[in-house]
Amino acid sequence: MVEDLLTWLGAQDPATLFWLAVVLVVLGYLFSLWAHPWAKCGLCKGKARHVGAVYTYAWRPCRRCGGSGRKYRLGVRMTGIGRLRSA
Ligand SMILES: [Zn+2]
Repeated sequence: MVEDLLTWLGAQDPATLFWLAVVLVVLGYLFSLWAHPWAKCGLCKGKARHVGAVYTYAWRPCRRCGGSGRKYRLGVRMTGIGRLRSA
């Protein structure tokens, strides 16, 4: 089974193998978007809070993520993959 696959791969054109690898990487990335659509908010680093500089116990919700601490990954915003999963 594995030998058959290796034999088949060895018989292919290098360009074909290159594009096969590209397709596998892209599919892996799309699966990753579906599995994990969120990333940490870049402004609050996922803490969801904006803390005061002097009164460090005081905070308000981060204005960029609205207090969720998360943002959609770039690929999710571009493709919409994973949006349906996340409430
Ligand atoms: Zn934030």
